[in-house]
This record gives sequence, C-alpha cells and structure tokens, in this order.
Amino acid sequence: MAVPKRKVSKARRDKRRSSVWKLENPGMVECPNCHELTAPHKVCSNCGFYNGKEVLKDGKLAKEPAKKVDAKDKKAETKKDSE
Ligand SMILES: [Zn+2]
Repeated sequence: MAVPKRKVSKARRDKRRSSVWKLENPGMVECPNCHELTAPHKVCSNCGFYNGKEVLKDGKLAKEPAKKVDAKDKKAETKKDSE
C-alpha cells in the first residue's frame, strides 16, 4: 500500500479544508403544479406531483403501481401470509 512520505501538518490540512465551503444554493426548479421551488428529478415535496401526475398523497403512494404477478410469485406471497 502506498504510504505518504510525511505527515501533513495541521496548517496544511486546515488550509486545504478551509476552501471547501459550500456557498452556492442547490439547484432548484419551480414545480409546474404548485410553483413551489423543488429539487429537480424528485417528487415535489409540497404537492407530491411528479411529471404532471400525483405520485404522493399524504406521504403515501397515490396509486399502487400495477404489478404483474406470475404464478411463482403468488405462491411465495401466500406462503409469506401463512407464516
Ligand atoms: Zn408541487
């Protein structure tokens, strides 16, 4: 394993760390539904809309995604239920 030749002094270490202040705001976009600022590519935390559709309602999924369940999975689910 590569090993540093000498210890980095406190001054050098602290100088390095002093330059990583996060000053800029994170990128935010306006929600097309409620016009609240929200993170891009995320469900709006204010109204729960994403891509023009309501995804979240009271913190839960507004509509369960349609899942295709084949016979194998069904068996596994029934097994789980009986436990
Ligand atoms: Zn919104």
